[in-house]
Amino acid sequence: MKAQPARASAAAAKLLAGPLTECVACIREGAAIPADMVSASFDRADEVGAGKDALNIFISTDREGATESAKQLTAHLGRAEPLGNLAGVPVALKDNIATLGMPTTCGSRILEGYVSPYEATVVRRLRANGAVIVGKTNMDEFAMGSSTENSAYGPTRNPVDIRRVPGGSSGGSAAAVAAGIVRLALGSETGGSVRQPASFCGVVGVKPTYGRVSRYGLVAFGSSLDQVGVLGRTVEDASIGMEVISGCDPLDSTSADVPVPRYELEKNAGLKGLVIGKPREYFPDGLDPRIAQECERALDAYRELGATVRDVSLPHTSYSIPVYYIIAPAEASSNLARFDGVRYGLRVLSERGLNGMYEETRARGFGPEVTRRVLLGTYVLSAGYYDAYYKKAQAVRTLIAQDFRDVFASGVDVLFTPTTPTPAFELGAVKDAYEMYLSDIFTASANLAGVPAMSVPIGDAAGLPIGGQIIAPHFGESVMFRAAFGLERALAGNFVPGEQDA
Ligand code: GLN
Repeated sequence: MKAQPARASAAAAKLLAGPLTECVACIREGAAIPADMVSASFDRADEVGAGKDALNIFISTDREGATESAKQLTAHLGRAEPLGNLAGVPVALKDNIATLGMPTTCGSRILEGYVSPYEATVVRRLRANGAVIVGKTNMDEFAMGSSTENSAYGPTRNPVDIRRVPGGSSGGSAAAVAAGIVRLALGSETGGSVRQPASFCGVVGVKPTYGRVSRYGLVAFGSSLDQVGVLGRTVEDASIGMEVISGCDPLDSTSADVPVPRYELEKNAGLKGLVIGKPREYFPDGLDPRIAQECERALDAYRELGATVRDVSLPHTSYSIPVYYIIAPAEASSNLARFDGVRYGLRVLSERGLNGMYEETRARGFGPEVTRRVLLGTYVLSAGYYDAYYKKAQAVRTLIAQDFRDVFASGVDVLFTPTTPTPAFELGAVKDAYEMYLSDIFTASANLAGVPAMSVPIGDAAGLPIGGQIIAPHFGESVMFRAAFGLERALAGNFVPGEQDA
């Protein structure tokens, strides 16, 4: 008979639910051991992963590997080199981030059974800082979607209300944090896939500046837009995670050689004199009144902290969805050409030889949304349409980026907007692809411009979390975190993320 894994102590469970800094301090002092943190994390995963209400957060978990890493950390404890900033912290990874010894499926049948022969730089950095990887989280196939319903492994449910979606495409990572399985998870962003699920699940989600974090080992979707991001329970947790994964990497030529500041030092910084831009295009007349109201409350909190709120305009905002949905599928159609049955995962042999094998592997391996994107992308890049669509979209993209440069050059430190146009919707409720694309209406512009942006819980509508978005200039993560810490402090007590769940 197989031995049952040990259940974690109440002390470890409590530590898992508390700030990362406490967990790390206890591990360093020897007051807690990493293996107990791993058990606590898996206990919680088992609790929410069983029965008809299962949240379906993970595509794969690695209890054995996590326990082994935890033991190695414990063995390291007595040595001279100090343990890293994530010593003993359980972390979950979106399943499009390459890990050694664990599958990387991207939520797709086409990568079923694929195990990467190398590890993403962000994972190496996490491990080097003592993090313990517990599993790979569910996601929309190849990160295309806003609800995690486009996964070949079934939808993930929102821990706050299981009838609803957690957002996407990093829905599994957001749900893992919201459900208390981990305090920190990695996701990826192409058009909002960290911020939007963070907003839906009531957690913090950060998309760094394009180039801030290495993309080596992140399966490519739209290479000029993609970034790895973090999901955390609090701004502080997210700031620590972001600092660990940031920095130049010779293995990613798009990563930037810019020093990485200590983001968590912004924790107690004052906001006096900070200028917060309120872009009118992000507060349209038809905005959901519950979201408008929570945003106004957040802006009032900013004024009370001594910041100035200034009305500003980003005039090309209305083009960001059409531009994003030309550029992202164009890049995806090129990036996904490599999944052809020859090198990775699924291979469907055909009587029609090599071309038949390509066709049948892709037809069987890709789901409907990925197929739609590949078709759209191929179309906008084809000879007769390239100038009309792709080239035009690139030209408008530069105007969108210029809007941000202009507004920041005018003395605005950060922008504040809603993260999403609605709170989490019910599973199956959004059937129309275009309606789903509109979930990204407030987030895709930051990816097009390459600027950092994050979502912070600011309130709720009848128990459903609402996120506020803070957008900063290129490599302005420090001021972005300062604004986020301030807001979190000011709103503390009004809304505790995930509280409904307890
Ligand atoms: N929801 C957007 C899309 O479907 C964004 C996805 C993402 O950021 N990966 O493309």
